[in-house]
Amino acid sequence: MRAAQIEAVRRSTPWMMAANVANALILLAVFRGSEMFVAVAAWATAVSAIAIYALYRWFATRQRAKPESASLRGVRRTVTHTLILSAVWSFAPMLFSVADADQKAIIGSLVAGMLCGAGFALATIPAAALVFTTMLAIGSVVGLALAPGWSSVTLALLNVLYNSVVLASSLALARMLSERLEAQMRSSEQRDYIGLLLNDFEEHASDWLWMVDENWRIRHVSSRLLEALGATESQFVGRSLLRALPLPDRGQTSDKDRDGLRELVLAMRARKPFRDRELVVSIGGAPRAWSLTATPVFEAGAFRGYRGVGRDVTQAREARRRIEYLARYDVLTDIANRAAFNDEIGRALYRLRKRGEPFAVLLLDLDHFKSVNDTQGHPVGDELLRHVARRLESVVREDDFVARLGGDEFAILLGAPATATDIEAIAARIVAAIAAPYLLSVGEAVVGVSIGVACASAESDVDTLIRHADLALYRAKREGRGRYCFFEPELDAAARRRHQIEMDLREAIETDTLSLAFQPLSRTASGRIVGFEALARWRHHELGPISPAEFIPLAEDRGMIGSLGAWVLMQACKTAASWPEEVRIAVNLSPVQFRTPRLFDDVRRALHATGLAPQRLELEVTESLFLDATPAVDASLQALRQLGVRVALDDFGAGYSSLSYLRRFRFDKLKIDRSFVDSIDTDLASAAIVGSIIGICGELDITVCVEGVETEGQRAVLERLGCDEVQGYLISRPVEAGEAAALLDRREVRTAASSGF
Ligand code: C2E
Ligand code: MG
Ligand code: MG
Repeated sequence: MRAAQIEAVRRSTPWMMAANVANALILLAVFRGSEMFVAVAAWATAVSAIAIYALYRWFATRQRAKPESASLRGVRRTVTHTLILSAVWSFAPMLFSVADADQKAIIGSLVAGMLCGAGFALATIPAAALVFTTMLAIGSVVGLALAPGWSSVTLALLNVLYNSVVLASSLALARMLSERLEAQMRSSEQRDYIGLLLNDFEEHASDWLWMVDENWRIRHVSSRLLEALGATESQFVGRSLLRALPLPDRGQTSDKDRDGLRELVLAMRARKPFRDRELVVSIGGAPRAWSLTATPVFEAGAFRGYRGVGRDVTQAREARRRIEYLARYDVLTDIANRAAFNDEIGRALYRLRKRGEPFAVLLLDLDHFKSVNDTQGHPVGDELLRHVARRLESVVREDDFVARLGGDEFAILLGAPATATDIEAIAARIVAAIAAPYLLSVGEAVVGVSIGVACASAESDVDTLIRHADLALYRAKREGRGRYCFFEPELDAAARRRHQIEMDLREAIETDTLSLAFQPLSRTASGRIVGFEALARWRHHELGPISPAEFIPLAEDRGMIGSLGAWVLMQACKTAASWPEEVRIAVNLSPVQFRTPRLFDDVRRALHATGLAPQRLELEVTESLFLDATPAVDASLQALRQLGVRVALDDFGAGYSSLSYLRRFRFDKLKIDRSFVDSIDTDLASAAIVGSIIGICGELDITVCVEGVETEGQRAVLERLGCDEVQGYLISRPVEAGEAAALLDRREVRTAASSGF
């Protein structure tokens, strides 16, 4: 700052000094022939000497580079120089007292001129300006005081006034100059800083800078970009941006890429700023994605081109595409995922409302997939899922949309035409296609599929459609799997009831609100009670009595069967412990219980806690246990038998009725399902079948019990066929514990008990 101030004064040195010499010579000329001439000549010589010295100094240092800084000494030197010069000049007004009128006028003008000239020329160094004007003022006042008269007083006063005005203006000027200097310095500092940053950016950042002129001709690009392009500056700079860009051939770009370029051109035509515009270029034959950001440059309102940054975003774009893919596709099967499926339903709903195009949603659940997964391992399960996905794709029509929702759940959106008949035909095709055996790397596998169908209406929404299809799927599974079901409104009501039961069942198990009923099993011939079957009962506070056939499957689905089963075991054993020793208790076990590790402990704990002998406990299992049989199921059955408890095969004949189960596991008892009993006294075939089963069991030393015996006629046939035990309303309906004890007291019961429970 100081250097700049001194420099400003220095710049005016030649003129100032020339003016000094000229003024001194004028005064000398004016006093020519006067008696004061010698004194004036001496004075003029002094002024000229000082001025010439200053000029010499100026000339000597003229070639030197402008100093960046100056010390306080430099300022002091200037002030001192000014002091000497002004001290000499202060003698000039003293000539006033000896001057004639003409001379006075010249002296007055010269002094006033010097005052003003110095005041402004020295303004950048206020101290120097102050010294000069003050010295001149003192000289003037003294000179005027020596020349008495009114005009001198007036002139002295005027002098002081001028002096003050000049000083004040020169100080104001000085302040203004230094402010401007400061602002200049700040902005140049900023420019330096920005320049530094830009240099650093060009050298180190992966982004590059670019600049085009008003005709979009390239004026500058970072060397980094030239390197990437393998081009030289001359190949690039000066060319039109659109020509210089290595745009790929039409065939290599997508519509979206071309849109990117079009939008960029439109923005530039409109001279608008743009940000992160993506552009596909071809470098060395490979497509790369660039992102450009720029702002238009205007100078004095005129468009001067664009200045911006760019960077290669190929990797980021790939990553983004990958993420987008992952968000919408199932990695395992390479078909759409749940999110994409929901979106597709949204679009189909829009088309339905807008153009009345019907569509249907199919939810698919593989039957017995879990057993493949459990027995063969997850990699095989994955392989199977991939095969299923391919088959689904091959069965549906081109415009139908197949997705995997997760696990073994798939979904299909059937577009128009989608009449009930079309849908049925496709659903039947799917069921058949999925059921065909699969050739996997480990061998053959078989799964089935259950399908729930919901047809969309204009009022549908994504969630309700899926829920409806889900309810239909639930029904398809309940009705025996390997089939499809359409959603019907009653399913909704059923679902609500199921939901309520589910909610309340957990509480019922925890608060002991369930109870047990006991139904006797008696010897066919003698009617002697050999045991009871424990049957779970639940009276709901709102819905009344709920059949176990309804709440047991729900408990299975919702993971409550473990605790429910444990409770039944404990209660049944407790009740049975109070009966005579030869009376057994039968407890039903769900296949789901075999999938939980707690079953064995629950049985052991019940026996231990109640002191019931193990051979008095009979566990009833159904054939469905063997459907997704795993080695674990066999192992736990074995373990239970080793404990000493008996195992009965329940409901034989109701389901798959394969005699191979009898070979697979050594059952103690076989309970023939009541469906065989209905017509046993009228239908010869039923009697023959039951007779031969009884025969086989006799050979294998398995006790046979027939369930659901309601009439004496049925019992009589069974007695003739050699059936060991019977169970049914003829003997007794299920009764509560107290009544069971009473029945035992009578022991032999032939007629149906009156109370139903
Ligand atoms: P289930 O084990 O086959 O039990 C026999 C069912 O047949 C009982 O129905 C019983 O009341 C009924 N029944 C007995 N005699 C006759 C008859 O002469 N005629 C007719 N029409 N029906 C007869 P319930 O109590 O409704 O039980 C249904 C099923 O619920 C049972 O079939 C059993 O599989 C299951 N269940 C009941 N309690 C439990 C339990 O504590 N745990 C498990 N896991 N399942 C249970
Ligand atoms: Mg049973
Ligand atoms: Mg049964």
